[in-house]
Amino acid sequence: MTTLQAPMRGLAASPGVARGRWRRVARLPLPPAGRVAADAVDAEVARLHEAARAASADLRRLATSVRDQGHPDEAAIFQAHAAIARDPAIIEAAAAAIRTSQVDAAGAIVDAARAASAQLAALPDELLRGRATDVLDVGDRIARMLAGLPADDDLLPVPAIVVAEDLTPSLTATLPRDRIRGIALEGSSPTAHAAILARAYGIPAVVGIRGLLAGLRAAGEDAELAIDGTSGVVVIAPDERERRRFDLLAAAARAGRERDLAEATLPAMTVDGTEVTLLANIGTPDEAGPAAALGARGVGLFRTEFLFLERATPPSEDEQADAYRTAVEAFGGDPVTVRLLDVGGDKPIPYLPISAEDNPFLGVRALRLAEQRPDLFVTQLRACYRAAVAGPIKVMAPMVADARDVERLTDLAAEARAGLAGDGIAFGEIALGVMLEIPSAVLVADTYFGSLRFASLGTNDLLQYTLAVDRGNPALERYRDSLHPAVLRLIRLSVEAARRAGIELSVCGEMAGDPVAALALVGVGVRQLSMAAPSLPAVRRAIRGADLAALQAAANAALSDGSATVVRIRFEAIRPA
Ligand code: PEP
Ligand code: MG
Repeated sequence: MTTLQAPMRGLAASPGVARGRWRRVARLPLPPAGRVAADAVDAEVARLHEAARAASADLRRLATSVRDQGHPDEAAIFQAHAAIARDPAIIEAAAAAIRTSQVDAAGAIVDAARAASAQLAALPDELLRGRATDVLDVGDRIARMLAGLPADDDLLPVPAIVVAEDLTPSLTATLPRDRIRGIALEGSSPTAHAAILARAYGIPAVVGIRGLLAGLRAAGEDAELAIDGTSGVVVIAPDERERRRFDLLAAAARAGRERDLAEATLPAMTVDGTEVTLLANIGTPDEAGPAAALGARGVGLFRTEFLFLERATPPSEDEQADAYRTAVEAFGGDPVTVRLLDVGGDKPIPYLPISAEDNPFLGVRALRLAEQRPDLFVTQLRACYRAAVAGPIKVMAPMVADARDVERLTDLAAEARAGLAGDGIAFGEIALGVMLEIPSAVLVADTYFGSLRFASLGTNDLLQYTLAVDRGNPALERYRDSLHPAVLRLIRLSVEAARRAGIELSVCGEMAGDPVAALALVGVGVRQLSMAAPSLPAVRRAIRGADLAALQAAANAALSDGSATVVRIRFEAIRPA
């Protein structure tokens, strides 16, 4: 029986609109864990190792097939899953449980994966928290193999919106893509892999919709479902008026995409002729092409840590050089800014011996790790110098606090260059710079800017360190506005110091992708903004409608304001319609 439901709101995870039939996708449950006899323990451990090997081989095959279908990013996820399936920490924990508790291999691997996943889920880094599901997914795959359960088949026989509590990455990729109209999940987050895959495949998705499954149960299987992956709005059993609204939204989304692409070649120039360079933030080399299509004039931030996560050993120099070269080639002459490794005490990188810390964000993070592991940074810098043969590369160090950190950066770079020269390997020139994300680095910028070519404001961390606001704590939303006058003052100091030293300055924190904040940045004097590629069109439009003198006047006034709320109202008021 279909009953009309009120609209619900989840988290927008992948833009686009879908409405129509839905289908609950779920796998057959695993049987409860069993026990093994004392004399069968060795055989059970052997079965575990065999299943882990087989699962890893399956995942590698899945990675190859997904790559062959033209999705290298997603293939990398399954490649990472193949590594998780052989992760000694998880497999050995399961083997130990078989030996000590005589639990069967399927139960042991599920428990071991759950424990590893719980550790990830407790981390402050949102992206790493999203990986908790990946570990569960791999544990589940091995357990299914051990329990003799069939593979996922015929879960989506007809085109429909896929509904689930959560969707594992491998299930997302193995479902027939041409039949997935949309994805609606009761749980999950926009940075989990189901959402990443949905965005990569262009499938509209809304996640974290509390009450979705109960609502659909009440409405019945024949009820329609409508989802808007841009706003996060979800309607169960939409009436005629709602259906029309969703169809109009779908048409507008199609037109919007065409408009964004058509405008991509327009300069981000204010009405009085001041040009702002718009750049892209990327996490993998494959994102460079789509960013260039949306008009990015290069990469302002390549977050390289994603090359280092979810594996047992660091990526080799060759592997890194390939990744950086691919990004450079996609921009054909526009610069790519590679950020050196930004991991630390809060990131579980098994091959980095960092002890547990009470305050990981104030701990051995990013460049601070060079004290213990200079080799990691020298290898990365060598890869950058090698890739620079293919085109312009800039390299910046994260979490720089003062001039001594800058000396460390230049020493590491000199060591990398000398090593390459000694090895007879060809290399190009790179511009060295730093991220300004610690207030102290801004305040003493004059002492080291002279030895650099550029600096980039990492406003995500600058905000957290200036305002004492943990960037991952949802309870502090009221304090998390980058337009805080204190942050603007630090940005103004950076602009002035960069001008005195004659070096380039950009902003690469999320602030740059917020059209209102972007106007404030231009008003304060920033002329390079780097952001997630989907934010480029809206920021470009805001700048093209703005008048520099008005932005400068608002920015000067904002520096004396008492809170971010006032500053935001100021810039909202002069934002072009
Ligand atoms: C920042 O801190 O603003 C930044 C761009 O770096 P990340 O978000 O990766 O810490
Ligand atoms: Mg940062």
